[in-house]
Amino acid sequence: KCHNELVRLKGNIRVFGRVRPITKEDGEGPEAANAVTFDSDDDAVLHLIHKGKLVSFELDKVFPPQATQQDVFQEVQALITSCIDGYNVCIFAYGQTGAGKTYTMEGTPENPGINQRALQLLFSEVQGKASDWDYTITVSVAEIYNEAIRDLLGKEPQEKLEIKLCPDGSGQLYVPGLSEFQVQSAEDINKVFEFGHINRATECTNLNEHSSRSHALLIITVRGVDHSTGIRTTGKLNLVDLAGSERVGRSGAEGSRLREAQYINKSLSALGDVIYALRSRQGHVPFRNSKLTYLLQDSLSGDSKTLMMVQVSPVEKNTSETLCSLKFAERVR
Ligand code: ADP
Ligand code: MG
Repeated sequence: KCHNELVRLKGNIRVFGRVRPITKEDGEGPEAANAVTFDSDDDAVLHLIHKGKLVSFELDKVFPPQATQQDVFQEVQALITSCIDGYNVCIFAYGQTGAGKTYTMEGTPENPGINQRALQLLFSEVQGKASDWDYTITVSVAEIYNEAIRDLLGKEPQEKLEIKLCPDGSGQLYVPGLSEFQVQSAEDINKVFEFGHINRATECTNLNEHSSRSHALLIITVRGVDHSTGIRTTGKLNLVDLAGSERVGRSGAEGSRLREAQYINKSLSALGDVIYALRSRQGHVPFRNSKLTYLLQDSLSGDSKTLMMVQVSPVEKNTSETLCSLKFAERVR
């Protein structure tokens, strides 16, 4: 009861943390030392040792390095299936480059992340429903880079798309030209992901760098119709692998690198501002301050549900960025 009350008060915004394990790439020595600890009796708390001081944070839940993809999925399942009932849902992975955003959302072939698991779960849920309801599931894959939206499943992935108001007078937003593909099986999902990856990689010299400077969106739409009554529902699940939150501008970046950093900074702050405004029930929510928040407006407002997954690197040399990420987490929580 207490928990439900909390969820209601929080306006359906949840903030989780996930700490990745220390890897070989972190190197050796004091720089690669572990700087994050947990409480054995409270899975919402995390402690960071930054410049010799212990700083504690309380989120809604924290996943330690040993948490598996399945452990994480277990906690987000209910959120995902709620889009069958017509809810709009956003799941964001936030954090500096290398903190595990893509691992959480995409995962690896052996350990798939939320994206693939979500689609599989939605398939099995709608197929298992013995009723007059019929469902179709479609996906779009988009990228936002330097405040320009690109359709990664489109024939012209280089084309910049605009956000428009639906002409039907509903006040809803849509992106004319953004491709939507119906998916029916796990093979379909793999094809869609592959195609999206190929399009993302074209015309960029370094895919890793490019992905860390753009937001990747997988938009899953579940449409249901009850044949006996004609009632229709639409729910949207937006799975977003955000651009890296590291503060690049401060390290003397110039030219296009600086411009990229400014765009990223602007859109991540806009996202923080929007969630903060929704969370604190402010009258004005500044959705239009970035393409990302404007595009997701319908999925962030009203009775929509949002999960912010703040990704954390556990190592000493990253604690300044980790501190920033956790402060962001606390602000939107
Ligand atoms: P980001 O997308 O935030 O830049 P990545 O997801 O690419 O970060 O993660 C950086 C590296 O750490 C990758 O090699 C990834 O496989 C690994 N990694 C991240 N999180 C985990 C985890 N929870 N378990 C195991 N390896 C992880
Ligand atoms: Mg990534």
